[in-house]
Amino acid sequence: MSIAKEPFGSMPDGMPVDIYTLTNTHGLQTRITTYGGAVVSLLVPDRNGKLDDVALGFEMLAEYSEKSPYFGCIAGRYANRIAKGKFTLDGVTYTLTQNEGDNHLHGGAKGFDKVVWTAQEKSDTDGVGLVLTYLSEDGEEGYPGNLAAQVTYTLMDDDELRIDYTATTDKATTDKATIVNLTNHTYFNLADGGAGDILGHELMIDADTFTPVDSTQIPTGELRPVASTPMDFRQMTAIGARIGQDDEQLRLGLGYDHNWALNKSDDALTLAARLQEPTTGRVMEVYTTEPGIQFYSGNFLDGTLTGKGGKVYHYRHGLCLETQHFPDSPNHPHFPSTVLRPGETYQTTTIYRFATI
Ligand code: BGC
Repeated sequence: MSIAKEPFGSMPDGMPVDIYTLTNTHGLQTRITTYGGAVVSLLVPDRNGKLDDVALGFEMLAEYSEKSPYFGCIAGRYANRIAKGKFTLDGVTYTLTQNEGDNHLHGGAKGFDKVVWTAQEKSDTDGVGLVLTYLSEDGEEGYPGNLAAQVTYTLMDDDELRIDYTATTDKATTDKATIVNLTNHTYFNLADGGAGDILGHELMIDADTFTPVDSTQIPTGELRPVASTPMDFRQMTAIGARIGQDDEQLRLGLGYDHNWALNKSDDALTLAARLQEPTTGRVMEVYTTEPGIQFYSGNFLDGTLTGKGGKVYHYRHGLCLETQHFPDSPNHPHFPSTVLRPGETYQTTTIYRFATI
């Protein structure tokens, strides 16, 4: 296993940005940049052992900072949406940056995807990794409390990309409770890394219910059974099989862009989803301690972005499986809580495990 560091350019203020290459003994390889903690590439074998990049992304730092639709990044402080950018905590109403219409999306105008993280290499017999840290100050994008975030990526020798997230809000300096919801926003295409669409990929999501959305993609608060709807992925189903159906939720999401409430009663690390691509035999299993997963079918990709190797990212050429707490949780008291208080530690783990069939 190996880990190597190279420069990836610098920010307008001169701050250097690096890119790290992690490789395991089977040849799986990922490149991760300190800009937004983004997974830039991910090489995994097909059923014949041929390595291909299965993540969408760019070659240049400037492309990430100028036009990335959250390719590969860490999304935070609050991944996904908060209605009208408002929530109330301990009697105080906070207003966050409204960067998607009236709503707050993925941490605001300069979320965790657009900051430079501090990196430290780590290596042991199980894997090679990168510990990324970032201190988000009290008031950043409207959030209360200093938040010390740490995201550890480990490329395991058993072919998993493991992500451990922790965060604390500092008692000594602010004594303020806050909210936090971190995820990774990699767009996957297990067939060809985004040259073609993802409609032939097959997906299983272990969820009996999902959170339906309104016309601004904010959950209505309902937990609706997936049974007899196109949201039912309890059995492995091709993504394209029902995406074109005349269905209210598919219309509102412009396709799949919803949160599924995983079948679990605690925060154990369990199988949330399984994605497989029949032509290459590549399989990706997603394990998480989180209660939810956003399946986004790349509905906003429209052919205007050209990525690595000249691939043009057309409509639905990549998909995201974002493990998370439910969107807009601070405004839905019956959803699992995203509140973090001074003295507590936010801690979640998600694993993307690769195999072939
Ligand atoms: C959201 C999409 C959004 C995308 C950003 C996803 O997590 O659910 O609605 O467009 O992120 O590109």
